[in-house]
Amino acid sequence: MEEFRTYVSHLECGLESDRYPADVLHGLSKAGRPLLVRYDLDAVRREVSRDDWAARPEHLWRYRELLPVRRTENVIDLGEIRTPLIPIDELGGTNVLVKDEGRLPTGSFKARGLCMAVSMAKELGVERIAMPTNGNAGAALAAYATRAGIESYVFCPSDTPEVNVREIELQGAKVWRVDGLIHDCGRIVREGVEAMGWFDFSTLKEPYRIEGKKTMGLELADQLGWTLPDVILYPTGGGTGLIGMWKAFQELRELGWITGSLPRMVAVQATGCAPIVKAHDDGVEHAELWEDATTVAAGIRVPIAVGDFLILRAVRESSGFAIAVEDDATLASREIVARRDGLLLCPEGAATHAAYRQALADGRIAPGETAVLFNCATGLKYDLPPVDRKLEEPVDYARLRMS
Ligand SMILES: *Cc1c(COP(=O)(O)O)cnc(C)c1O
Repeated sequence: MEEFRTYVSHLECGLESDRYPADVLHGLSKAGRPLLVRYDLDAVRREVSRDDWAARPEHLWRYRELLPVRRTENVIDLGEIRTPLIPIDELGGTNVLVKDEGRLPTGSFKARGLCMAVSMAKELGVERIAMPTNGNAGAALAAYATRAGIESYVFCPSDTPEVNVREIELQGAKVWRVDGLIHDCGRIVREGVEAMGWFDFSTLKEPYRIEGKKTMGLELADQLGWTLPDVILYPTGGGTGLIGMWKAFQELRELGWITGSLPRMVAVQATGCAPIVKAHDDGVEHAELWEDATTVAAGIRVPIAVGDFLILRAVRESSGFAIAVEDDATLASREIVARRDGLLLCPEGAATHAAYRQALADGRIAPGETAVLFNCATGLKYDLPPVDRKLEEPVDYARLRMS
């Protein structure tokens, strides 16, 4: 990889907009809110072009000028490929596309965020990281931190899918199950910072995961010939990806590199855990803690999010909306897309399909509009419906088609 040139100028509080210097370690802003990375976009416009990007391999670092890493030797690379956009057969058309993030390292789009955040942690000299997770973020942290030679500690709710807990441990992190939900795990991390000397990697509590997730927006524009879809449906937990994509679109628009209107951003949640949907419908800027959160879509079981106001802002600025779907609809969607299109979605991805259908029915999405659904992880990490068919010999071949 050639030497990097980043155009980071400074960081900025997402709420108060006060400035912080680049190239030093930061957690939250003074106001206790997420920090956003800012770039010298005038210089990017003068010195870089989309053709420079087009000449590079189709991976995450293609967009390096709009990413924070300064020194190439700090890049932790596990092969972050461009993920495909796969049309599915909704209404017999081809305008519904699934961005299949399950093909990334560690099987989820958490790789984008953690690739960036761990690379920056290495650049800034971090030696020990801790994180609360519902599974996929911990797995990505474990992989990238181990590769970077950084120690990692991971805390997850006790009912986190077994495969996640095991992959985290096997990839070199120390992992604990905790009685409680992700925000309880988050408290354990926060309270241990001093005693353990670890850096808090909770969602949005360090500035660089958003930049990694931002590549979903850059990549989408790039893939679609520098135009954007009408609507993007995103399964929203901590909201990093939704916030990151919206940030990408703002930056591209300021560069003059995209034309047309920006997509409506749709935050998809489960009816069993829908704090953002409630806050959106109530017209407020911050979401309240969602009590007794439950859903089959583990990745979006996030009862409270420190970046709630940034999610709500992106949804509102884009004229989008927030929508909650029942678990039954999510599981039905997984089955529909698997049987009809041959595409196995994760439950969170399936929730976006259920939301698409719901919004089509209530008129918030029109039939001809181009919609992108995010499938955030490989469907193979989740429990699948059991099969109990067993073949007895001698085989009665005539009956095989009927069973
Ligand atoms: C983390 C995760 C989400 C939620 O992503 P955020 O950007 O944190 O809102 C959705 N789906 C899956 C599979 C995840 O792992």
